[in-house]
Amino acid sequence: MAYDLIVIGSGPGGYVCAIKAAQLGLKVAVVEKRSTYGGTCLNVGCIPSKALLHASEMLHHAQHGLDALGVEVEGPKLNLGKMMAHKDATVKANVDGVSFLFKKNKIDGFQGLGKVLGQGKVSVTNDKGEEQVLDTKNIVIATGSDVAGIPGVEFAFDEKVIVSSTGALALEKVPERMIVVGGGVIGLELGSVWARLGAKVTVVEFLDTILGGMDGEVAKQLHRMLTKQGIDIKLGAKVTGVAKPGSGARVTFEPVKGGESTALDADVVLVATGRKPCTENMGLAKAGVVLDARGRIEIDRHFQTSITGVYAIGDVVRGPMLAHKAEDEGVAVAEIIAGQAGHVNYDVIPGVVYTQPEVASVGKTEEELKAAGIAYKVGKFPFTANGRARAMLQTDGFVKILADKETDRVLGGHIIGFGAGEMIHEIAVLMEFGGSSEDLGRTCHAHPTMSEAVKEAALATFAKPIHM
Ligand code: FAD
Repeated sequence: MAYDLIVIGSGPGGYVCAIKAAQLGLKVAVVEKRSTYGGTCLNVGCIPSKALLHASEMLHHAQHGLDALGVEVEGPKLNLGKMMAHKDATVKANVDGVSFLFKKNKIDGFQGLGKVLGQGKVSVTNDKGEEQVLDTKNIVIATGSDVAGIPGVEFAFDEKVIVSSTGALALEKVPERMIVVGGGVIGLELGSVWARLGAKVTVVEFLDTILGGMDGEVAKQLHRMLTKQGIDIKLGAKVTGVAKPGSGARVTFEPVKGGESTALDADVVLVATGRKPCTENMGLAKAGVVLDARGRIEIDRHFQTSITGVYAIGDVVRGPMLAHKAEDEGVAVAEIIAGQAGHVNYDVIPGVVYTQPEVASVGKTEEELKAAGIAYKVGKFPFTANGRARAMLQTDGFVKILADKETDRVLGGHIIGFGAGEMIHEIAVLMEFGGSSEDLGRTCHAHPTMSEAVKEAALATFAKPIHM
C-alpha cells in the first residue's frame, strides 16, 4: 500500500511529525533503526540526563542543603544501582508512551535502517539484512545527530573509560576523577551529575568561556557557581590527545594561545564536543539530496530538500540541536504536507541548561545585539532581593531582560537561578506576541514567587524595580 507520509527516525522531530500528520488525516509510517522509539532525546539524551540530574541534585541537597533549613537527615548516601534503575524506568515509560501514541494514531512502525531511494520510495533493511521497499507520497528525514569526535585527535569511545554522553549516562561506579572535554550544555550537565555523586571533575574547554554563544554575563556567573561546587574549569585549552595509557585515561591539552602542554589523568574521560548530523548509509547522495558545507541536509523555508516531496527536520538540518526545535519543525512540516501553513518562529526558541542553578535563555544575547548594532535597554534583578528565593535559600543568580531602546519590545531574556527553565516561558510567550518590557513589568505576578524577579527585571528596563 502507499503511504501519504513516511518519516525516517522517531526522535522528537520524527515522532511528533508522525503523530501530527496522522491527526491531520494522513496515512503515516515511521522507520526507526533502534529497537525503541523516541530517538536520542528519550533514549540517551534529554530524558535520562534529567532523571540523573534530578536524582543527583536530591542527594546533594540532602547532604549539603537541608541542614540550613533545619532539617537534619542521618547520613544520606548514594545507591547508584537504584538511581540508574530510576533513570531506566523513566526512559522506558517515555519510549513506551511513544509506542502507545503510534498505535492510538494508527501509525505503522518499521524497525530497520531507512534509505531514501528517490521521490516516493523508501527502503527498510532490518537486522537480518532483509530489505523491503515502501511507496509514499512524501518523506520526512528526521535522522537526528550522533556524537562527534575532536577534530584532529585520534581516539575511540569504549563507553567505559573514554565515554560519550551515552556512556556517561550509564557508568557502573562513580569515577574518582573525571575529565570532561567540552564546556557546553551536555558536558556541564553530565559533569554536574558525577561531581554531585562524588567525582572530582575537571572541564577542559577550547573557548575562553563555558556555554559559548550564551549570554556572557550569565555564562560567567555559572562558571563561578560551578567552581564553588568543586568543578575545575580550564578555559582556552586545546585538547591534543585522549588516550588510555593503563586502566585509566589521559587527556593532553595546550593553551589555545600557545604554550606548554599539560597531561591530566582520570578514571573516565567524557568527550562532549558536540554532535554531527546523521546522514550516512541512507543513500542520500545517490538519491540526490544535497548537504550543506557542515554536512546538514539543505532545506528551503518549507523544510523541503533538493528533491520534491522529500523534507528534513530536527538535528539533521540547520538551527539549534534542541528537542523542542525538532518537535516544532515536526508539527510545521506535517501541516505543510497536509496543505496547511506550518511555521516555526526561530527568534523565540528557549534554551535551558539543567545545571544547578539552571540557566535559561530566549531571544538575543547582549553580544548579538551589539554585533547587530541594535540599540537596547537592560533590566536586571537579582534573586538575593526576592522573598521566595530567600525563603528557599535559592538566592544565586539573576534575571536579565533586553528590550529595544526605541520601541521597548522585548528582544531577549536570560535567567540564571533555581527554576530558570520554567520561568523562561513567560518571556517566550511575551516575545511570541511581540510584547514590550512594560507589558511584562505591568503584569500582576503572584507573590511570593521566583517569577516576580522577571517582572522586576522588566520594570528595571523602563522604570525602577520596587525591591531594589
Ligand atoms: P534524534 O532524537 O537524534 O532521533 C533520530 C532518530 O533517527 C534516532 O532514533 C535514530 O536511531 C534514527 N535514525 C537515524 N538514522 C536512521 C535511518 N537511516 N533509518 C532509521 N532510523 C534512523 N535537547 C533539549 O532540547 N533538551 C535537553 O535537555 C537535551 N538534553 C540532551 C542531553 C544529551 C545527553 C544529548 C545527547 C542530547 C540532548 N538534547 C537535548 C538534544 C536532543 O536530544 C536533540 O536535539 C533531539 O533528540 C533531536 O531530535 P531529532 O528528532 O532531530 O533526532
